[in-house]
Amino acid sequence: MSAPKSLPATYRELLSLVTVPLERRPDGDVVASRPVHDPATGEVIGLAPVHGAEEVDEAVEAARDIQPDWASWSSGERADLLEKAADAVEQVAEPLAELLSRETGKPLNGPNARFEVGACVSWLRTAASLEVPVETVVDDGGTRATLRWRPVGIVGAIGPWNWPMMITVWQTASALRMGNAVIVKPSENTTLSVLALCAVLNEVLPPGVLTVVPGEREVGAVIAGHPAIRKVLFTGSTSTGRRIVEASAGNLKRLTLELGGNDAGIVLEDIFDGADADRRRSVVEDMFWGAFINTGQTCAALKRLYVPDSVYDEVCSGLAEVARQVPMGLGLEEGNLLGPLQNRSQFDIVDGLVEDARASGARILCGGNPVRNAPGFFYPATLVADIAPDARLVEEEQFGPVLPVVRYSDLEWAVSEANRSEAGLGASVWSSRPEGAREVASRLEAGTVWINAHGAVDPRIPFGGVKGSGYGLEFGVEGLKAVSVPQVING
Ligand code: NAD
Repeated sequence: MSAPKSLPATYRELLSLVTVPLERRPDGDVVASRPVHDPATGEVIGLAPVHGAEEVDEAVEAARDIQPDWASWSSGERADLLEKAADAVEQVAEPLAELLSRETGKPLNGPNARFEVGACVSWLRTAASLEVPVETVVDDGGTRATLRWRPVGIVGAIGPWNWPMMITVWQTASALRMGNAVIVKPSENTTLSVLALCAVLNEVLPPGVLTVVPGEREVGAVIAGHPAIRKVLFTGSTSTGRRIVEASAGNLKRLTLELGGNDAGIVLEDIFDGADADRRRSVVEDMFWGAFINTGQTCAALKRLYVPDSVYDEVCSGLAEVARQVPMGLGLEEGNLLGPLQNRSQFDIVDGLVEDARASGARILCGGNPVRNAPGFFYPATLVADIAPDARLVEEEQFGPVLPVVRYSDLEWAVSEANRSEAGLGASVWSSRPEGAREVASRLEAGTVWINAHGAVDPRIPFGGVKGSGYGLEFGVEGLKAVSVPQVING
């Protein structure tokens, strides 16, 4: 299978597809737009279009026209097209990664821009490979009932700015696979990345099946309340999630809510049993990347770490050593693995939480000293030790390159502290004995608990939060069911 030849070959060609030209339209109107700044330098990289309710209605009309036909394609035909879409993303991978790096600041290398584009390919291919089988619920000679899953119709996908391309694919690949039409509302902070990705996908998809409506928060609100949109997949903050629930009441819209997290990791006393120096370092490095992936701007990142007295000093000093060595800088420089925060308000949140921790007497092991009036939003990798369990940095989502390490002497206390949060997205347990770790994991109130890792998502494995982190599952067969409606045929 091969991708179309008309795909953009360079970053410049890709950018010109998605930015608003400065000149006026032929009808004299100026296209509404907002400047997009590179978060590492402050440089304007282009103008992003800003649409409104009218364009949502147009997208709904286009979706209404095409969706029944799209749903009538055979499952195999839709799977083939998703494979072709994956080929197209692969073909444009470098320009996509460059645009993503410039708009978000994330480095090309490490678990960042190239990794994100690669994840788009992998999630598309996995969605193509999965099917929801028709289930025979009862067949006893007298009664025969089967359960099958049909497309919802038109699905809205509202996304955040931290992993803009990957989360757009998370939301759209399953929905398209099942025969839905999808209307995407990207974050106003990362419009160009999502427009570019969808422009590439639309080189192979039938027109109207996937439409992006770029715009401010109001566009999201229109989608959430639109009577023709029967399902919304929302990924973003818990406070916006609540508004989406309210707006969805009009047509009893189905929702999948992937909301904020404040993931706890619990280190067990036996973590280093039998481990030599290399193994110890590698365990600590895994903890570091569990927290600092995408410079900490990750929903299911490790956001507070509970460590027992016996290994507290070793874990703290090991983490600080890694933090000091990992290069942070311009995304397009190949050597960097950490970048700036994506926007000023996130920088201010992180800065405020660290200053609050410092004022409360916590010990800053490294970092905590940003240049505040620079054009870029760089916040150094920061480790905070001897912090009170009720400090704001422990209780609130930092969403940046800072990890508080809380000391404990009683495992039951650590488990209850981990569960005290209203968030319930992910968690992790770190131990040299997987059986013991699984027992602790089973007591944590989180949608996923990793053992000796954190945040490792997989397109085959269902993912979703509990409590204030939302509801519904994405990925795997469960993810396909989430963008479908069940139908029982009885007889
Ligand atoms: P946000 O809630 O501010 O915005 C998310 C999206 O919602 C944006 O596109 C925004 O325009 C839109 N929006 C805003 N108000 C709206 C409204 N009233 N109705 C409809 N849409 C509206 O979130 P953010 O700052 O972009 O993202 C960061 C948050 O997302 C963090 O809390 C993070 O933990 C969370 N997140 C969760 C997951 C997950 O899988 N659970 C993944 C990534 C990010």
